[in-house]
Amino acid sequence: MDFDDTPQEAEFRQVVRDWILANAPDDLLQQFCEAEAARDAGEGAATMLRVSRIWQRRKAEAGWACLAWPVEFGGRGATPIQRVIFDQEEGAYGRLSWLFRVGHHIAGPTLAAFASDAQRRALLPAIASGEKVWCQLFSEPASGSDLAGLRTRAVRDGEDWVVNGQKIWTTVGHIADYGLLLARTDATRPKHKGLTMFFIDMKSEGVEVRPIKDASDTYEFNEVYFTDVRIPDAQRLGEINEGWNVSLTTLMNERLSIGARLMTGVPELLDFAMACEMEDGTLAIDDPQVRSKLATWVTRANGLKYTVYRAVSALSRGERPGPENAIGKIVAASMSQEVAAFALSLQGPMGVVTDGGATGKFAHMLFEAAGKRIAGGTDEIMRNIIAERVLGLPGDIRVDRDVPFNAISSRGR
Ligand SMILES: Cc1cc2nc3c(=O)[nH]c(=O)nc-3n(C[C@H](O)[C@H](O)[C@H](O)COP(=O)(O)OP(=O)(O)OC[C@H]3O[C@@H](n4cnc5c(N)ncnc54)[C@H](O)[C@@H]3O)c2cc1C
Repeated sequence: MDFDDTPQEAEFRQVVRDWILANAPDDLLQQFCEAEAARDAGEGAATMLRVSRIWQRRKAEAGWACLAWPVEFGGRGATPIQRVIFDQEEGAYGRLSWLFRVGHHIAGPTLAAFASDAQRRALLPAIASGEKVWCQLFSEPASGSDLAGLRTRAVRDGEDWVVNGQKIWTTVGHIADYGLLLARTDATRPKHKGLTMFFIDMKSEGVEVRPIKDASDTYEFNEVYFTDVRIPDAQRLGEINEGWNVSLTTLMNERLSIGARLMTGVPELLDFAMACEMEDGTLAIDDPQVRSKLATWVTRANGLKYTVYRAVSALSRGERPGPENAIGKIVAASMSQEVAAFALSLQGPMGVVTDGGATGKFAHMLFEAAGKRIAGGTDEIMRNIIAERVLGLPGDIRVDRDVPFNAISSRGR
């Protein structure tokens, strides 16, 4: 493919650039970073949500929110390439959309594919504008990589389903209005064939959200408990027991969204190395060891950029995000972890001081990178996907694949 903008794309980029320049949310981003650095689940989380909503609403009113979605669903009807151009120009301000990312990249595309027309019209514009926050209720204490082994049950009762069970690692669950829920609806079938997808109002009776503090002292995750929670059948997405196929759309979109922004840490490291003074008074950028590391990472970051371009051009031909997007996620996450660790070693003790500004940036990146290597599929699972579905190598051994779920031993789980 040709990597330069076409004349139409260049024109579009200029329109985006002008709008971002005229509306740059520097003050909001500053408030967001300060609130994030304060690390508290109450006031801090409320501030992060408030300032994020201001930027998201501003974008929605000007037609820049979820721009590849149809206009009637709150988007702009733009092409995938135009969406990428907007993301590139939005740059660091994109952090202000972080709290909405499950809605934008996971729940939104799933609703667009499987919800009724009335539900799409009611739910999607509120996702695009940031009015409603969504979370993803998939992982459980004994089923993360082995997602199809989940145990939360949904039992049919008239026009409703009654849900009991527990989810964990639910990002933004503590501020979410809705959740995308994968539950077991038939335990007599093999594990992939007895699951159903629903969406759920997080304020429903019987839903209990318990925040978890993570290693970086931040509240991002939650445990979510369901006790006799009733979900109307109208909130089922896809056919009964077909939830695994619905979740594949969701997971591919998730992996594309995680890989697509490609936070490698390389531009940040370059800026830092050009400003960092070493003990002998020289700049880090002039040190041969630093230069050698930088050269390796810049080369790898460029390889990644073109891999993503390839995925984007497939999208623009109307193809669905495929397993090759696993490559972007696996490389970007591990590279940002290496880059952050190296930058911290140059910074010394000051590197761990957090004040919401430049200091602490690499410490934050280091924690975040570790999470990225797990979220949406661990490195090992990504490698399995690449091996089996891109390279055509023999499959992982799955002894319980065709066994009824209720006949699989649960000892040790
Ligand atoms: C930052 C972050 C955000 C998250 N947000 C959400 C969210 O919003 N909603 C949600 O539902 N979940 C979320 N998760 C959970 C995430 O999806 C799971 O943590 C992930 O799928 C791994 O599952 P697990 O933690 O149970 O680890 P396990 O599956 O128990 O894996 C443990 C180890 O075994 C390895 N392993 C497992 N199976 C295989 C295999 N077949 N071959 C080779 N190695 C294997 C894994 O790679 C890993 O190293 C989030 C996680 C993180 C870190």
